[in-house]
Amino acid sequence: MRGLRAMCVCLAVAMPLAHAATPVLPGPQFPSFESAAALDTFCDQGLQRAKARLNVLERHPADGRWLAAYDILIAQLEDWAGPVYLLSNVHPDKALRDAAETCELRWQDFSSSLGQNETLFKAVSHLRELDPIDALFAKTLLEEFEDAGVSLPPVQRRRAKEINDRITALGQEFDKNIRDANVLLAFTTDELRGVPEAQWRNAKRDDQGRVLLGIDAPTYTAVMQNADEAKTRERMWHAKTSEGGPANLKLLGEIGALRKEYASLFGAASYADFTLRRRMARSARAAQAFLDDVLNAVTGRERQELEDMRAAKARDLRLPLEQSTLQRWDAAYYQEKLQRERYAVDQEAFRKHFPPQESLAFVMRVIEKMLGVKYVRVPGVKLWHPDTQAYAVHDARSGAPIAALYVDLFPREGKYNHAAVWSFRNGSLRLKRAPQAALVVNIDRNGLTLDDLETLLHEFGHAVHNSLSATRHVSQAGTSVLRDFVEAPSQMLEPWIYDPRVLAVMQEVCATCEPVPDALLAKAEAAKHQGKGVLYGRQWLYAAFDLALHGPEATEPMALWARMEGATTLGHVPGSMFPAGFSHVATNYGAGYYGYLWSEVVAADLRTAFAKDRLDPAVGLRYRRTILANGSQFKPDELVRRFLSRNSNPHAFFDELQRGAN
Ligand SMILES: [Zn+2]
Repeated sequence: MRGLRAMCVCLAVAMPLAHAATPVLPGPQFPSFESAAALDTFCDQGLQRAKARLNVLERHPADGRWLAAYDILIAQLEDWAGPVYLLSNVHPDKALRDAAETCELRWQDFSSSLGQNETLFKAVSHLRELDPIDALFAKTLLEEFEDAGVSLPPVQRRRAKEINDRITALGQEFDKNIRDANVLLAFTTDELRGVPEAQWRNAKRDDQGRVLLGIDAPTYTAVMQNADEAKTRERMWHAKTSEGGPANLKLLGEIGALRKEYASLFGAASYADFTLRRRMARSARAAQAFLDDVLNAVTGRERQELEDMRAAKARDLRLPLEQSTLQRWDAAYYQEKLQRERYAVDQEAFRKHFPPQESLAFVMRVIEKMLGVKYVRVPGVKLWHPDTQAYAVHDARSGAPIAALYVDLFPREGKYNHAAVWSFRNGSLRLKRAPQAALVVNIDRNGLTLDDLETLLHEFGHAVHNSLSATRHVSQAGTSVLRDFVEAPSQMLEPWIYDPRVLAVMQEVCATCEPVPDALLAKAEAAKHQGKGVLYGRQWLYAAFDLALHGPEATEPMALWARMEGATTLGHVPGSMFPAGFSHVATNYGAGYYGYLWSEVVAADLRTAFAKDRLDPAVGLRYRRTILANGSQFKPDELVRRFLSRNSNPHAFFDELQRGAN
């Protein structure tokens, strides 16, 4: 599961051009804090400045320069709050992460009050004679004020703010329960039979000499795909599906009820309806209808795949087929086994081809070729952890440094345990403000699987959306696009790794890395198609659960999940509590998880332009200028139309969904 956190929102100093010999990072230096107290002070200063800037803005006449003045406030908020939102997820010192979370709540209080500021609302309502970019900015802003409750009667308005602030605090607690749980499971080496030794050789041991394993993504996947002992997989699966625990189920229930109440303040029947009317989908009904089309397209395929796995289990355990039952913790294992049998594809075997640093260099080179940029490593930059790296992104044609990118590759205790990009500073042409983002993943130091490489490329798609934004305003930059569009630029890149011409780029950055044979890559792609039924069936379940949880009926999350998962082929396993770890739904993807599938339609359509050559620099440059550079200053449909010279349609998506079907 990949996720993206869009951040709320500086006064930028124009950057001098770098001298070739001494690379500099565009934008200000990332703040460094020696203690929680230092972060508290930074937080105080930021809030003071924001209030002062807000006072200036409140006195600003509603004229042609008002939106620019508002945008300066947003830039300032970003510069003071953006790094804090990132640090609460990545700083190695728990005291500092805690201080960052406290600071986030203070910013939340500021933002929810800002959303209800009547003076600003009136000013933006009076703006006239705007060009299309400013007109869309003003329209979006008016909607944001409306949705924050500015027009509600005083009692309801206070309640709206209370709810917003409370949901943020509850979401924070939800994530903390996952991040700081530090779950460790003890296994004998015999129990780990089948799991590559490199995955556990250096792990801590308990006093009986058993290996202690966490449930971070690389460890979890390695055990679930490879452990021959069903009991080992079962324990690991239960630990992962209990992540967050009953405390998080309670939090999610409270969040769902609060969102429903919030929507009712505006007369909406459900939170999904309230939220989706502003999105590409426009309504919960349209989102659900789309999800059902996806389900119909994959149901037969999913059934067949699960049946194949059940048969593989029967062969493996020498059982008659009728006595073989596929359990949830069997799925990844037998899928992997089938892929090895049918396609001779072993994800573990890819690690030797893809060392971590070289894989990062590979992804950067692919982007360089496609999009006309250059990544320059900037040494000696002090960041939150010694493993973290800093890069300047240059425009290849002009040589100008245009953005900064920080990269945090490896898992560690207390770190966000999925893969995400924090676009903590957005660019603006008007302010000559350079974007900055942080790419946070958790990859194995022994190297990447092909799946990991796909994840890295996906996340890079978010990073370039931030880096290559060239909008007038900060507020419309990069990943500030609609939530059901934001994944498209990342998803578009995913199949690139199955293209031998793209993968050959690896040898440009690593002469000693053994090339992946073309035949193996073709088999890996065929194997990928083989798991599509199960994959999309699962994505449908996540998205449909999220929509139902935010639907018109009051629902208790665990009962809803048990019912919905119970209706699937593998059923619900009593005692498991997947929703307790479903952070997307508890935080800012609430009623928005369908967006991962929705934006795949756009991604597949965008990809058609690269059908002849995925590294075509001319198509890449057009893509950069139309889609990436424009952020949200035009609507997504309009951006796609400009890039493809036609209206978007779902044909490519549904064609791809059928590819490789039996
Ligand atoms: Zn993503």
